[in-house]
Amino acid sequence: MNRTAQWDDDSRAEGVADDFRRLFGGAPDGVWAAPGRVNLIGEHTDYNDGFALPIALPQTTLLAARGRTDGRLRLHSAQGDGRITDLVVAGLAPGVVTGWTAYPAGVVWALAEAGHAVGGADLHFDSTVPTGAGLSSSAALECAVAVAYDGLYELGLTGPELARIAQRAENGFAGIPCGIMDQMASVCCTAEAALHLDARTPESHRQVPFDLRGQGLRLLVIDTRVTHDLGDGAYAALRAGCERAAALLGLPALRDLSADELPQALRALPPELAPLVRHVVTENVRVTEAVTRLREGNAAALGPILTAGHASLRDDYRVSCPETDLVVTAALGAGALGARMTGGGFGGSVIVLVEAGRESAVGGSVTAAFAAAGHRPPRILEAAPAAGARRIRPAPGTP
Ligand code: ADP
Ligand code: MG
Repeated sequence: MNRTAQWDDDSRAEGVADDFRRLFGGAPDGVWAAPGRVNLIGEHTDYNDGFALPIALPQTTLLAARGRTDGRLRLHSAQGDGRITDLVVAGLAPGVVTGWTAYPAGVVWALAEAGHAVGGADLHFDSTVPTGAGLSSSAALECAVAVAYDGLYELGLTGPELARIAQRAENGFAGIPCGIMDQMASVCCTAEAALHLDARTPESHRQVPFDLRGQGLRLLVIDTRVTHDLGDGAYAALRAGCERAAALLGLPALRDLSADELPQALRALPPELAPLVRHVVTENVRVTEAVTRLREGNAAALGPILTAGHASLRDDYRVSCPETDLVVTAALGAGALGARMTGGGFGGSVIVLVEAGRESAVGGSVTAAFAAAGHRPPRILEAAPAAGARRIRPAPGTP
């Protein structure tokens, strides 16, 4: 699947470069790719300085880009409204740009803010990452710009540095208070591995071999195609709740509370904060356990860890919704090894670990359960650990 994905990016790159020529006249300086992601385990832990274990998806955002010397920034997306947005790098400031262009423009702003000598560019995007499905199309968009600018302006930044710039764009320019996981996954993941991320020190990330297919397993991503509106404000409120709990406990972040100290902390906290803390602490333990199982070559043992993570998100963190709960129940009922909602919550996607050969039975069961409940049919993709952001054209190895 990874080979296919890379071949796919390769063949798509030609079309994206052709579209660039039609839109902007002349050839792009290069074509870059940045993937979407799914997180195996470690949800709502990154902004608590905790752990996560994402993989990059084979689905990518391709970016054909050319540097400009006049400070203009022109943006176009095959998934946009057909217009070219024309901006000036020197005029970029939070609040000035709205809509989808805030993500890529935000990256250029964040680079300039960090003191990098960056100018303008013509940028054309074309993505196969589903948007708004909890698969981080926004990070794919940002990280594509970050790696392309790193190449165009010879910045020489490391993966974690690029991820921080992309996160700064989403937080400070697009106005979404996300943690670092999505951007770290999009930039730093490698094929056939999961990324063991410590959000306190992203530089110390580790690749954990994850030979899904070799172990006779498949990972389905089931997009419920619902997003409940309470999502945005609720995310900020949860984050604020975690920060308040850490302050009450006298800790820099909830990551600093161990499983042993949890019972005492729960007794000391107000009742509305205790379940949030229990989720974060137990979720960090689940990440460590998942990494141990993967290192033992026992990916099937992730199943119960995923399902326990879902219960924690549903009952303690309260970010699941009837549709994601239904996918999990139907998938487990059809013999899946484990399942959980992934991403921020209130809709989005569920990951389901199955034995090879069980994909259609499990997918069919979920689809039937959705029909019976009167929901739109879910969208089902198969995931496999793919490569992080990279240059596609000129082909790697050429100058
Ligand atoms: P997710 O990151 O889970 O897909 P978000 O709401 O964070 O969901 O980001 C989705 C938004 O990102 C879209 O509404 C759109 O503004 C922007 N976006 C992502 N990919 C593209 C693209 N290829 N072209 C234009 N806009 C995009
Ligand atoms: Mg996003």
